[in-house]
This record gives sequence, structure tokens and C-alpha cells, in this order.
Amino acid sequence: ACEPDPRAAQIPRYVRVNTLKWDLENALEYLSSNGFSQHTSPFESKKSFAIDNHVPNLLAFHSTASFHSDTAYRDGRFILQDKASCFPAYVLSPDPSIHIALDATSAPGNKTTHLSSLMKNKGKIFAFERDQARFSTLQKMLKNAGCKNVDAFNQDFLTTDPRDERFRGVTHILLDPSCSGSGIVNRLDYLLTSAESQEEDKVKEERLEKLAAFQLLMIKHAMTFPNVQKIVYSTCSIYPTENEQVVAKALDLEEAKNAGFSLAPRAEVIEKWEHRGVNKEMGEYKDQADRVVRCRPGEDKTNGFFVSCFVRNTSVKSNPG
Ligand code: SAM
Repeated sequence: ACEPDPRAAQIPRYVRVNTLKWDLENALEYLSSNGFSQHTSPFESKKSFAIDNHVPNLLAFHSTASFHSDTAYRDGRFILQDKASCFPAYVLSPDPSIHIALDATSAPGNKTTHLSSLMKNKGKIFAFERDQARFSTLQKMLKNAGCKNVDAFNQDFLTTDPRDERFRGVTHILLDPSCSGSGIVNRLDYLLTSAESQEEDKVKEERLEKLAAFQLLMIKHAMTFPNVQKIVYSTCSIYPTENEQVVAKALDLEEAKNAGFSLAPRAEVIEKWEHRGVNKEMGEYKDQADRVVRCRPGEDKTNGFFVSCFVRNTSVKSNPG
């Protein structure tokens, strides 16, 4: 039952150059001195790589490339992060001179370190993680990646008080909560849980409904931060129950209406990405399905992923805190 998913071979091994520690130019020199060569496709040979054309500072290697013992990976200059998983921080892109960011569900820290790097280690990121063991992984990753603008809390995001003096200034929230993980096709730990794919439809639907209710609650809580302007919600799920349907329900929340939240236009959410939301899953918001991004596992050379971005009409002032 533990056969690798055939789509895994279509997905390059992605490596994000951690600009908190060096830059793309130095990384290219390092790779060349280690026998790698740059091509338009990472599948040219086992030692080829390509520069990604959607996410800055992201490199794509052959799917069989391994970096686990590579010096630049070990010392935090390289971060192994799937391309689609780089979209949320890139879409959020807070400006450290005027914005304050919060990562609600941080461990192991791929997106937090990406945010930190996009903010050039300036300004402030509050990072929450509720699980203790995963929190210590997060702390190690933040240290290894050289993040100095992150305050990490081993705390349930839902228990934070949005009006707390420390957090009331938060303007940008990244929300990448627990999900079914059904989009991940190239990870061994996913294969171990593939027994889930055998479960009965009814049991599966119940599990997805529970996840969706939790995901909606997380968005609802994020929307009550008095100064929040932008919330990026993402999952590595392929199911509309956790994606388009959650987004449509979030837009219907009282909190969303009071604060004036709507979906950011396509131009602000990886505009050139072809695959967008499934319109029939968005109910009355079906005309806005192109505002959200879907990554199809394998076919898009990424794992399965979903990204949406809520922006607040700042002229609506009903949530002053
Ligand atoms: N964003 C992470 C990254 O890119 O490395 C991956 C996040 S993972 C999909 C979801 C994480 O959220 C898990 O580590 C889980 O323990 C944590 N989590 C779930 N519910 C939470 C909550 N209510 N508050 C804080 N963390 C939570």
C-alpha cells in the first residue's frame, strides 16, 4: 500500500535561497562549484536546476535531488520548501516599515522564515504554534535561518486576545492551519497516512467537515484583530470543503461584513498562475473564483495547494478595538 504516488516524479525538489543569510548570486556560485548547472528545466539531468519564474529566490532541482546532508541546507542558507508553499508569504508580503505580521500556525516554520526574509529581518512577526514538540522544531528553524524579527509563542492562536496591547497593531495575518494534507504527494510521511485514502466516504466527509469548521473559526478569529488589513488563508488540501467552501463561508461571516473584508483581486494573488478556484464550490461568490489559487498535484509541478487572500476595505471603521 506504500507505493510512491506517480505524480511525485513530476514535482521538482524546490530549494528556497534564504536571503537572511546570503543571496541568489552567492547561491548560484555555490551550486556551480558543487557540480550543478542551470537550465530552463530542472529535469535536464540529475545535476541541473532552474530558477523559478513565479517566486523570487526559489530554485527547482531534479525530483531525485537530495539536500539533507548539504552544508547550505544544514546551516540554514537553503530552505527545502515546495513552490506552492512559498505562495502564502509572497502574497502577504508585509512592508516591515509600516506593517506588523502574525503567523497563526507556524511550525515547522517554512512560511515564518519566508516572511522574515521578505521583511528583511526588520519590523515584527508574531508566530504562534500550539503543539509543544512542533514549537521546539519551530524555534530551531527560526534560529538556524537567522530570523531576528520573530517573537514565537507556544500558544493556541484562538486563545489570543486581539485587543491585547502586544497584538492590536497586527496588520497582516498568515493562516496555514492543519488540514487533510491531501495535496501532498511527494512526502514519505504522507504515504504512511495513506491508509486514510481507504476510509469510507462518510467517515472522510465527517473528518473534512470538522477540519473545515476549525479552519473557518481560525479565519473568523483573525478577522477580529482591530487593525488587520490582509489575511492569507492557505491549505495543502485538494478538497473544496477545506478551500473554496471555507472561503465562501468566511465572506458570509458577520465579522467579515462588519470589518469590510473581500477577496483580493487576481492581480494581487499570483496573477499569472493558470489554475484558479472551482467556481461552483463558491456559491454566491462563484464569479470570484479566479481570485483564489489552486495548485494541482504533479500537473502544476507542485504539491496540491490552495491560496486565498482577504483584504479589508479600510474605509469601513466598525472594528476600531
Ligand atoms: N505554516 C507551517 C509551515 O509552512 O511550516 C505549516 C503549518 S501546519 C499546516 C499547521 C500547524 O498549525 C501545525 O503545526 C499545528 O500544530 C498548528 N496549529 C493547529 N491549530 C493551531 C492553533 N489553534 N493555534 C496555533 N497553532 C495551531
